[in-house]
Amino acid sequence: MNHFAYKSGSLHAEDVDLAVLAREVGTPFYCYSSATLERHYRAFAAAVPKDSLIAFSVKANGNLGVLRTLARLGAGADVVSGGELRKALAAGITAERIVFSGVGKTKAEMALGLEAGIHQFNVESEPELDALNVIALAKGLVAPVTLRINPDVDAKTHAKITTGTAESKFGIPISRAREAYAAAARLDGIRIVGIDVHIGSQITELAPFEAAFARIVELAKVLRADGHDIARLDLGGGLGVSYRTDNTPPPDPSAYGAMVERATRGLGARLIFEPGRLIAANAGVLVAQVLYVKQGETKAFAILDAGMNDLLRPALYEAHHEIVSVAEPMPGHARARYDVVGPVCESTDVFAQGREMAALKAGDLVAFLTAGAYGAVMSSAYNARPPAPEVLVKGERWSVVRPRIGYDALIATDRIPDWLA
Ligand SMILES: *Cc1c(COP(=O)(O)O)cnc(C)c1O
Repeated sequence: MNHFAYKSGSLHAEDVDLAVLAREVGTPFYCYSSATLERHYRAFAAAVPKDSLIAFSVKANGNLGVLRTLARLGAGADVVSGGELRKALAAGITAERIVFSGVGKTKAEMALGLEAGIHQFNVESEPELDALNVIALAKGLVAPVTLRINPDVDAKTHAKITTGTAESKFGIPISRAREAYAAAARLDGIRIVGIDVHIGSQITELAPFEAAFARIVELAKVLRADGHDIARLDLGGGLGVSYRTDNTPPPDPSAYGAMVERATRGLGARLIFEPGRLIAANAGVLVAQVLYVKQGETKAFAILDAGMNDLLRPALYEAHHEIVSVAEPMPGHARARYDVVGPVCESTDVFAQGREMAALKAGDLVAFLTAGAYGAVMSSAYNARPPAPEVLVKGERWSVVRPRIGYDALIATDRIPDWLA
């Protein structure tokens, strides 16, 4: 459920016409719906125990406007870099609601988290544990830590976004968990607070989660028997969304919540969740303009002014996005098949192949749906293309929450060395 719909013949974000926005801010641009963000957050919060920490995964959408919208509902943040930690704090998410994940935290990033007083570090390896201990001791602080345990389950998602199988760069194999916890317990700069697990993203069945959580709950009991204080279970993110209108939708938050309740019943641990995609994906669209429709030998190409530098998911993961006309197609409208492509000089700059859709002509506006997560955050200036700006809508109001970078600013990021002057 989202708040993008046709009204008076044009696709709207809540009460704002995307065609009007296109005129005002230029294309391509991202547009987010506050009402959709809020709805998704509230649906998730209602599905899990009341005292849970819902730490929105900032890597899915790190825009300060989006983070502030969620912070006002009580969201925390799951960050994977010092930059994301700074963004979460700048958006008004308090340190006690921030968890720090990621396999390659630098010493400077650890220091930042310690000084801010974050809720916990999700530590992904024993060398990282040692490094964090050294830094905490040097500062006279103690780092609250969970170890990210890799439960060795197949998340049954795209190979490029699975993380929970035994030989993954993420987390510590469950076979080594007791050893790793024993090592952590010997470090004075480390305070064990729980266990963390995250098995991947865009997971569309409950079974892989249930299998993973069952293993983690078993492990929690074993670790408690070993004398560790397992007060928190961080169950990660990963619940998928529907990218295709013709698919059976993935389990909804209430089914997920009921499964979590079953899996963790009686354990008496505070739960932490790190949803990203579930909150943000359907709350955003990318609007682009058709530059040209080119007839090839056997097929037609719709060439857009948005490219893989704006929306990388199709090139990176072969991801599918529905692409719709901003002008509402009228009954009986002409349809055609296109390879929908961007202008970037890469053969992977293709959004869809042989996609049947309402016939397009130069100047038409199209919207990529479900682009609110892993969209703008992955954008780059490849081909010296300024990344698409971001707009946040609330009812009839809208605001540019990240302006387009001007060419002068883009060029000014480089320097010519004085020995070339
Ligand atoms: C990416 C990530 C998430 C969010 O995943 P979604 O599929 O967007 O819910 C949560 N936790 C960690 C550790 C991640 O790396």
